[in-house]
Amino acid sequence: MIDLHCDTIWKIWQSDGKEHLRKNNFSVDYAKLADGNVRGQCFALFTPMHDLVPENKRNLSPWEIASELYAVFQREIEDAAIPQMHLVSDLDSQCPHAILTTEEGGLLEGDISRLSILKDWGVKIFGLTWNWENELAYPNSKDPEVMSRGLKEKGIEAVEECGRLGIIIDVSHLSDGGFYDVAKYSKLPFVATHSNARCVTDVTRNLSDDMLRLLASCGGVCGLNLCPAFLHEEKAERKEDAESRIEDMVRHVLHVYETAGEDVLAIGTDFDGIEGKLEIPSSDKLYLLYDALEKKGMKPSVLDKMWYKNAERVLLSAEV
Ligand SMILES: [Zn+2]
Repeated sequence: MIDLHCDTIWKIWQSDGKEHLRKNNFSVDYAKLADGNVRGQCFALFTPMHDLVPENKRNLSPWEIASELYAVFQREIEDAAIPQMHLVSDLDSQCPHAILTTEEGGLLEGDISRLSILKDWGVKIFGLTWNWENELAYPNSKDPEVMSRGLKEKGIEAVEECGRLGIIIDVSHLSDGGFYDVAKYSKLPFVATHSNARCVTDVTRNLSDDMLRLLASCGGVCGLNLCPAFLHEEKAERKEDAESRIEDMVRHVLHVYETAGEDVLAIGTDFDGIEGKLEIPSSDKLYLLYDALEKKGMKPSVLDKMWYKNAERVLLSAEV
C-alpha cells in the first residue's frame, strides 16, 4: 500500500521530543505500517504559518521551521528503521518506506531556488498551499472570488521548476483557479494527495467532477481523505465526536471511480492531521476499507490500482 498523506512528523515535532515514530499512540508508527503492509508512507512536512505557529517557535521563519521538521523526519525515520524512498524501486523490498512530501508552499518564502534544496532532501511531492494565501497561490475558500483566483506568478514558476526537478505538485488545499492553472502549467502528472469528491460532500477541500476528470486526464491521482468533514456534511458539536465511517469512504471512492475512472484512485489518509471517531483509526486497519470495497463488487485489479499501483505510476513519472 501507498498512503499519500499523513501529518505524523508535525505531531512529533509539536511533542518536543516526547513522541516517536518507532512507537506512539498516534495513527502511524513503525508497527502499524508494518502490520498494515504499507510499503510507502508519505510524511508531509506541514509548515505552520500565522497563528498555527506554536508560541515557542514564533522567532523562526517558515523556512527555519521546515528545516526543523526535516531534521525531525531524518532523526525519526532513522530511529524507527524506516528507510527513505529515493527511487520507486526502493519499495520492492518488504519493509515500510518513508516518502518525503511538503504541505504549505509558504515554506519557500517566495524563493523558488529553495526547491532544489527540497529536491536534495528527497522531497517527492510539493503542496502549493495549506488554507492560507502565500507567495505562490490562494487556498480553497468559501469566498467564490478567492476560490476562482489562479496561481501567482511565483506559483507558476514553482510549478515549472518542480517539473524540471521531478517533484510532483499537490493541489489538495488549493483554490479551484489554482487547480486549473496547475493542470495548464504542470508538465508532470499532478496529485490531490488528500481530497474527496465535492459532488458527494459539498466542501471546498473536495474536488468537483470536472476537476476529477481533468486530474485523471493529466495522469494524476486523488487520495481518499478519512477526515469526517470531507466524508459527509453532518455537523458534530465537538470535533472529537465527528464520525469517519467506512460507508462514507465507500460512497466517495465509488463516485470518483464512476466519474473519473480506475486510474485516478488512491489513498491519502490524512492520519494524525484529523480528529474524530475514526472507524479506521490507524494504518494497520486499512484492510477494513479494502474488504468493504470488495464487498461492493470492486475488482481486485481496481483495488490494486487504488492501493498502490496508481500512486506508484505517478511517482515513477517524476523520476527524471
Ligand atoms: Zn492537509
